[in-house]
Amino acid sequence: ITLKEALKLNKDELNNLKNDLKAKIDARPELNAYIDVKSMGEGVPIAIKDNIQVKEWSVTSGSKILQGYIAPYNATVIEKLQDAGLSPFGRTNMDEFAMGSTTESSFYGKTQNPHASDRVPGGSSGGSAAAVGAGVAIAALGSDTGGSIRQPAAFCGIVGMKPTYGRVSRYGLGAYASSLDQIGPMTQNVEDAAILYDIISGSDPKDSTNAQKNDKVVPHLNSDRKLRIAVLPKYIENASQDVKDAYAKAIEALQSSGHEIIEKEMMDAKYDISAYYITATAEAATNLGRYDGIRYGNRVEGANLEETYYNTRSEGFGNEVKRRILLGNFVLSSGYYEAYYVKAQKTRHMIKDEYNKIFEDVDLILSPVAPTVAPKFGELANPMDMYLSDIYTISVNLAGLPALSLPIMKNSEGMPVGLQLIAAAYDEQTLFDGSLSLE
Ligand code: GLN
Repeated sequence: ITLKEALKLNKDELNNLKNDLKAKIDARPELNAYIDVKSMGEGVPIAIKDNIQVKEWSVTSGSKILQGYIAPYNATVIEKLQDAGLSPFGRTNMDEFAMGSTTESSFYGKTQNPHASDRVPGGSSGGSAAAVGAGVAIAALGSDTGGSIRQPAAFCGIVGMKPTYGRVSRYGLGAYASSLDQIGPMTQNVEDAAILYDIISGSDPKDSTNAQKNDKVVPHLNSDRKLRIAVLPKYIENASQDVKDAYAKAIEALQSSGHEIIEKEMMDAKYDISAYYITATAEAATNLGRYDGIRYGNRVEGANLEETYYNTRSEGFGNEVKRRILLGNFVLSSGYYEAYYVKAQKTRHMIKDEYNKIFEDVDLILSPVAPTVAPKFGELANPMDMYLSDIYTISVNLAGLPALSLPIMKNSEGMPVGLQLIAAAYDEQTLFDGSLSLE
């Protein structure tokens, strides 16, 4: 049942739906898409990534350090869901503090890909993607700092959408990299994504980076528009054959819907990786300074205050999080700040300018989401391999643009292959309109 259909159900039907979902979740414990299944309110159940605060729920960001922490308030997106008659339902698994591409770094165990039990669901919103992909959630919220909505959506065969930076309030979202983070919908189809996007987006005085815009897409959805769509022949050269096949298939579908295909190029994506991993770790090192054992979650006492900080952080954070805190502090430290952090910000501007230039001639860009289908567990255990696998998603966050990932085909092993469309800032309408021709 889709979100659109669920929104028409009455109270009794919704209760049956929730019980049915709970039974389906219990029948598949090995999936481990949820850290915990709870329900708040009587509305249409929406699965919530475990870094979004739901008042009175435990919220951990997939970390041991926040075990036992109870959210004292609702994130703005939760208030907006509830105002629209939807209810938070279950906390979905994720990479610790959203740092990762496989959901393997969660303190609460791994999540399986619904299409293959030996493969990852992607990450960091792997629990949300697996839940929707396996039919144990109608729709979910995820967060995307460098691809964490779009990549797991592609790996699990669902739709995932990252809004323009500033469209959706970050109030109540556990901060990873504040200049990149956005909450977005993860759904079974494009129309559901548009519905959920309309519900969660909009102005919020509690988030100073919010764009204070309230325009809606659903009333204007139009699959008949003829658009100019950029394709990137050189940019996709390093992608796997599965992704190239999907790319060719998507171009054909877009052409046969009457869109104009225009060839463009992007600068070498290796600069995206450097700019992203410097910016994201710098911001993360700063944001995660607050987990000191004094104010939040788990505390591991030491002989004095300093030792308490030390013990709490040593035991509470996992290896990937520690690696990024070290990296972030390094690139911000005096002597290295100019060489790394400042350079990354300059590169970020170049990436933004490059996108702006392409959008002078086109409405949308067609791009891969990941270089391959979902890898097997352990395949991305080397951090550098994992960082490189983000190559197609992170520039979108660096430039603050909206993008939507959707399934295009399955490969010979039955694994979904997704692609993304990218739009100019605040042009979510065109993004959704164009995406309808790829369903
Ligand atoms: N994989 C990327 C990272 O580890 C993106 C994660 C995200 O979008 N939260 O930083």
